[in-house]
Amino acid sequence: MLILTFFGFTPGGKRCLDMGQYRFTVHQNEGAKVRWRCVRKTVGCTAFVTTIDNIIIRVRQIHNH
Ligand SMILES: [Zn+2]
Repeated sequence: MLILTFFGFTPGGKRCLDMGQYRFTVHQNEGAKVRWRCVRKTVGCTAFVTTIDNIIIRVRQIHNH
């Protein structure tokens, strides 16, 4: 299954990653390695994405919304 993924910026100027209908923002930035959390983490969503040099190496695409 192909999920369209885009790197971009939020209206507030933060880096974001859009994957299908879901948006992720930077949670931890360790040089080239970035951990992204779903923007709905405030409502308890635990989905995350890990990238290295903007290449997705790990996805936990389990959303509670
Ligand atoms: Zn989510």
